[in-house]
Amino acid sequence: MSVHFEHVTLGQRVLFGSGRAADNLAAEVARHAARRVMVIASRSESAVAEQVTQRIDVTVFHDDVAPHVPIANAEAARAVATDNAIDLLVCIGGGSTTGLAKAVALTTGLPIVAVPTTYAGSEATNVWGLTEAARKTTGVDDKVLPGTVIYDAHLTLSLPVELSVASGLNGMAHCIDSMWAPRTDPINRALAAEGIRALATGLPAIKDDPRDLAGREQALYGAYLSAVAFASAGSGLHHKICHVLGGAYDLPHAHTHATVLPYVLAFNAPAAPEAEHRIAAAFGTGTAVEGLGALRASLDAPRALKDYGLDETQIPEAVELILPVVPDSNPRPVTATDLDALLRAAHAGDTPSL
Ligand code: NAD
Repeated sequence: MSVHFEHVTLGQRVLFGSGRAADNLAAEVARHAARRVMVIASRSESAVAEQVTQRIDVTVFHDDVAPHVPIANAEAARAVATDNAIDLLVCIGGGSTTGLAKAVALTTGLPIVAVPTTYAGSEATNVWGLTEAARKTTGVDDKVLPGTVIYDAHLTLSLPVELSVASGLNGMAHCIDSMWAPRTDPINRALAAEGIRALATGLPAIKDDPRDLAGREQALYGAYLSAVAFASAGSGLHHKICHVLGGAYDLPHAHTHATVLPYVLAFNAPAAPEAEHRIAAAFGTGTAVEGLGALRASLDAPRALKDYGLDETQIPEAVELILPVVPDSNPRPVTATDLDALLRAAHAGDTPSL
């Protein structure tokens, strides 16, 4: 079969090195010739932020960060940037913190240097999100892509195991969904396969010992690959389901992804033999479902949506919201009955059935 595809690689500088974040950030601030730096980090990320910014002059620290970037928080942060004549944004933290920096960049055009401390992967995408009146809007704009990402696994040592597992499986979801997402191609599938391998190596090491630096490095490397693959391939069935659940019922982002993933994999795998083979090979197991199942068992992964705030009575409405946004590229047709069964199983935490 002939090979033909269109692939877009987003332009970004990546500096990866444990214990190097403060030096790398100082070099990036100098490279930008930045004079007025705004550092965005939530209160729980402030200790890490102080450590990373010790070699730069900071004009203003901004810690008013909330999940899913409420519009009021975005507007407040934009005002701080404008009032202080900021010329460089530095975000240090998880996806919520990166998301706030993106919201500021969206309207101001300011460059971002991102220093991620979870495995959410927002730093490697040009996707922004804002929440207004309980509705989450997302969009794509190259202005919000951080020009530089600084990865330092030392900064993730404080991320509790439970959050590390959920966040790492959010990265795993980017990889697996990239195998059949609307713009999937051989390049993002190759990145996704290596991301699966790295996350499947790193997460059990973190579960055994949260201070295992080599495990943290593998997880961070896998998270970056997962996000690059996802940014290129777009949202597949899994992301469409989680976007609806997170937006409509305010479920926690990483835990929702971690819980729903095995059900989408079990649903799609029989209809996507090439993807199934690649995922299984990346896990080093007989089948993809087996590989993800064994990893999840070893991690004591999030299991049931009922534990994270989804009420069973909300499932029919969720089905109605998801059905119209199911990607045409999905390897298997998806009916309302299929979605209902998938959500009921994920709600209860039943064993995913093929
Ligand atoms: P989060 O940023 O809300 O962080 C979860 C918690 O972990 C927070 O309390 C945070 O303060 C804490 N934390 C972060 N790093 C820590 C560390 N090293 N030590 C101790 N605590 C730490 O959650 P998240 O899962 O990283 O991000 C979720 C958000 O990111 C969602 O809003 C989601 O929509 C967005 N997201 C966007 C994209 C994109 O491409 N735009 C991709 C993935 C996720």
